[in-house]
Amino acid sequence: MSTEAAAPLPDRAGIVIAGGGHNGLVAAAYLARAGRDVLLLEASGALGGAAVSSSPWPGVDVRLSRYSYLVSLFPRWIAADLGVELELVRRRVPAYTPVGDGGVFGVPGSPFADAVARLAPAVFASLTEPLRSEADLRALAGDDATWDALVRRPLGATLRAAHAGDDVGLGIVATDALIGTFTSIDDPARLANRCFLYHVIGGGTGDWDVPVGGMGAVTGALAGAARAAGARLVTGARVTAVASDADGVAVTVTDPATGAARSVAADRLLANLAPHVLDRLRGRPAAAPAPEGAQLKVNLLLARLPRLRDPAVDPADAFAGTFHVNESASQLDAAYAQAAAGRIPDVVPCEIYCHSLSDPTILGPDLRAAGAHTLTCFALHLPARLFTADPEGAREATLAATLASLDSVLAEPITDCVLRGPDGAPCVEARSPVDLERDLGLPGGHIFHRDLQWPFAETEAEVGTWGVETDDPRILLCGAGARRGGGVSGIPGHNAAMAVLGRTG
Ligand SMILES: Cc1cc2nc3c(=O)[nH]c(=O)nc-3n(C[C@H](O)[C@H](O)[C@H](O)COP(=O)(O)OP(=O)(O)OC[C@H]3O[C@@H](n4cnc5c(N)ncnc54)[C@H](O)[C@@H]3O)c2cc1C
Repeated sequence: MSTEAAAPLPDRAGIVIAGGGHNGLVAAAYLARAGRDVLLLEASGALGGAAVSSSPWPGVDVRLSRYSYLVSLFPRWIAADLGVELELVRRRVPAYTPVGDGGVFGVPGSPFADAVARLAPAVFASLTEPLRSEADLRALAGDDATWDALVRRPLGATLRAAHAGDDVGLGIVATDALIGTFTSIDDPARLANRCFLYHVIGGGTGDWDVPVGGMGAVTGALAGAARAAGARLVTGARVTAVASDADGVAVTVTDPATGAARSVAADRLLANLAPHVLDRLRGRPAAAPAPEGAQLKVNLLLARLPRLRDPAVDPADAFAGTFHVNESASQLDAAYAQAAAGRIPDVVPCEIYCHSLSDPTILGPDLRAAGAHTLTCFALHLPARLFTADPEGAREATLAATLASLDSVLAEPITDCVLRGPDGAPCVEARSPVDLERDLGLPGGHIFHRDLQWPFAETEAEVGTWGVETDDPRILLCGAGARRGGGVSGIPGHNAAMAVLGRTG
């Protein structure tokens, strides 16, 4: 996370970028390097959006990836284009799942998974090219049967057939289709298919790696690249309205120096904002129902890793990869049904991993020497609707339910391992969808700005575009809400910059 000193706002700029998440920074860096006059306006006091590092606990020397934590979808060549070093480490262990008093390492394979892995490189490469029709992308993928299973039929039938009789294995695989998405793998809308697709094609392999130094190291480097290329990055500058006409775009922004509303004129606006937010700022009715996130993010700092119920398994192995907690297929189904009915699931499915096992640089030297570790926990199937009536109470209740779920697979309560800060408070932080909406502007706390979109054109008119266009040629999306957005990828930022520069692939 980098903090900018308040810089005076100019009256006009060639391109205004609203939002300083990692995608806004990628767009700013590409456009500034191409000689464009770029002004980026970020509402909060820091750049990076959902890809930041910070310590939520005063006086505790740790730099947590506070929201997003693993990188898969960021093409290495985008980093190279921008002169940014993207240092990622592979986790020693891909996954561990406690089962009863034992557990299983790894993710179960299947012929379907092998087939998906074969088409992943072509689909991943297409994400940074102008949009193809579905028929063209299907042909490029080169395997109609796998494409149809991945795209055209609800994923549930395929995964259930591939993992028949293996409730735990099916659940482990299904989490790729559900994380950050409130749905079931059997839903005919195939939202789970889209979520799955983006989780298994990153880098052409679907590997999820640890950013060395945390997410803040990634966005800090991107901000440095944008600034070095001449982009002006201003924090504390909330965009409150957007209007456009034949002369250009008028952006109303809160001036960080005075707190007063100011107008900045631009030829173009790139919105690193969710489409829902952009519609509101343009004073237009929302084009789609409000997005709804469905997770609780919990960050913990531990004095030591907890003991497992299987004493033969070293916690340093089990927590190095994704540690699946109560994520069997039947548990996921039950949690979804209960949450859809408006209540906190009896058993909250969640997944955990320990960043500091792969990358101890995020801990200060004393914590490192003392054997402290971070734990990141992502709890599924906790939709925003559970939090709106009583955000504080629901946060506490879902945190308690999530920690109880974790305790159910450990040999000791997790709270026995939690460190306390200098103020005596336990180092545990929970962030609900309501918190994410307030702190990051994510509508409904949706971690991808809105439901993930298919990676191909859905209308004839969209073919050949970059998937970032709106109904106004002066206004483009450059964030996760674009087609082929979502995740820490830089892809919509790149694609918006290519659209501005008139590149055709
Ligand atoms: C808890 C959590 C865990 C996640 N885990 C992962 C993960 O492990 N790996 C992964 O790949 N992805 C993960 N994601 C998703 C990923 O973080 C996002 O999809 C990605 O960060 C989106 O980047 P962005 O730049 O498009 O937008 P954002 O990161 O959302 O940035 C948008 C920026 O716009 C600013 N803004 C909002 N409104 C205004 C306004 N009116 N004026 C000015 N600025 C404004 C915000 O403050 C913010 O800085 C996670 C997300 C969350 C929330």
